[in-house]
Amino acid sequence: MHKPVAELALIEQIRSGSRGGARFPCVALGIGDDCAILRPPRGHEVLVTTDFTLEGRHFRRDWHPPQSVGHRALARGLSDLAAMGARPQAAFLSLALPAEMLGTRAGRLWVTRFFEGLRYLAGLHNCPLAGGDTAESPADLVLADIVLVGTAPAGRALRRSAARPGDALYVTGALGGAAAELGILSRTGKPGRRVHRVSMLRTGPVPPNPQLYPWPRIEVGLALLRRHLATAAIDLSDGFSTDLTHICRESGVGAEVLAAALPIHPLAAKLPQQAIRLALHGGEDYELLFTAPASVTMPRSVASVPITRIGQITRGSALVLIDATGRRSPLRPGGWEHFTSA
Ligand SMILES: [Mg+2]
Repeated sequence: MHKPVAELALIEQIRSGSRGGARFPCVALGIGDDCAILRPPRGHEVLVTTDFTLEGRHFRRDWHPPQSVGHRALARGLSDLAAMGARPQAAFLSLALPAEMLGTRAGRLWVTRFFEGLRYLAGLHNCPLAGGDTAESPADLVLADIVLVGTAPAGRALRRSAARPGDALYVTGALGGAAAELGILSRTGKPGRRVHRVSMLRTGPVPPNPQLYPWPRIEVGLALLRRHLATAAIDLSDGFSTDLTHICRESGVGAEVLAAALPIHPLAAKLPQQAIRLALHGGEDYELLFTAPASVTMPRSVASVPITRIGQITRGSALVLIDATGRRSPLRPGGWEHFTSA
């Protein structure tokens, strides 16, 4: 079936700015042929992750600006690479758009801005869009699927299964901000604070708009791997409690978490009654949760991102939350359950 003219124009839009293979040594052939050709560095393994970005489930067009939707689509995949200490090498995007969007000026502007957000974050991480597909959406919904390819030195990628009893438990950045900002969006239809392009930049310890423009911790993941600072790691997409459960199940261990030690994002801290709940169960913070042997001297920050010790790995399988008074209670996974667990 021939593609409609509007779709061909869209493909051209994807292609523009995606050339320049010389800057991306891993991409031997990018957009323009039937397949992309990738050439991983010698002695490295290839890591692949795929993530849906579905309107109504992962974003709302009336809450999330188009730049944010593009940014978040890529950030989800980049964060998975960060969790394993991988370097991003190429992204592939399949995008289904409602017919009315391709047929109107406002719709085409939305798509242009979507790519603006995606490209900006891709540029920060030197990760080219090396292929993709477009189609007319069967519903009035924007549906995207992104594939991220990264590389890591053979046998060195950080895994969920490597936590051991006695290891210390750490998180990067701050927690609860994405859920706090989502709460503000749902109540007011507006972001928690003025959204500025600086939100998309990485200048500061935590993202100012964590729901709209999360900062995948690529540099932290690379440094943890390079400096042998972590045993197991995962990115916080579903929520701290759920993602900690993933690490513990995969490693066959339990964990104790100190509630008072959890770093709270400023947007969550404005809601003192809910702050701990947002930090534990909120989801979509895209920070890293990782373990390291107690003998490792952990720096206060890695790649300019604050690192906080929040508990330890224990024998058995119990997840325990310890409050400021020392009272212990079971910590149950309460984060979001997405369709995919990657
Ligand atoms: Mg993940």
